[in-house]
Amino acid sequence: MESKALLLHCCCGPCSTSSIERLRTLGYEPVLFFGNSNIYPEEEARRRFGELEKVGCHFSLRVIRSEYDHNSWRKEIEGHEHDPERGSRCDICFAYNLREAANEARKQGIPYFTTTLTVSPHKNSPLIFSIGETWDEFVPIDFKKNGGFQRSIELARLLDLYRQDYCGCEFSMRSSGEHQKADRHDRHAAEHSVDG
Ligand code: SF4
Repeated sequence: MESKALLLHCCCGPCSTSSIERLRTLGYEPVLFFGNSNIYPEEEARRRFGELEKVGCHFSLRVIRSEYDHNSWRKEIEGHEHDPERGSRCDICFAYNLREAANEARKQGIPYFTTTLTVSPHKNSPLIFSIGETWDEFVPIDFKKNGGFQRSIELARLLDLYRQDYCGCEFSMRSSGEHQKADRHDRHAAEHSVDG
């Protein structure tokens, strides 16, 4: 059976690994797409793209990158800068990246597209699907299911990929710093607590 062409929006190299394996078992041959103007700073976006190129090379897949335009992303999320992570800013961000992927798939003449965003246990797959349904070409796949997230970690180790410690935008950078500070505080408190 001939594979079906599909454009895969890749948020990063690690998440794309197990998604590619899953897509191949489902009969799709992906073209990897990196837009992600949400990522800040630009150097970080370049680094994540570089890791995706390694993945493309490993799986012998074509990788496409669209122009980085963080200002346009900032305009889109205006008024939501202080929303918590997983709030409305993230919904707008998902829609931004899916729209770019849909446009790129049409431009390239690729009949289907989907996203690696569902690999992360922190991302709400039904919400991503409800945004994706805007486009007929969108294929809803919950990549975190059947151990997909765990497999992405294994493959990222195997390929020696960089794994970022924040979602992508400058606001998630801040909250990741806050989480790390809270973790350190909790660890410190646990180490110095007196039982009983
Ligand atoms: S936290 Fe992640 S999903 Fe939410 S707006 Fe920032 S980059 Fe986008």
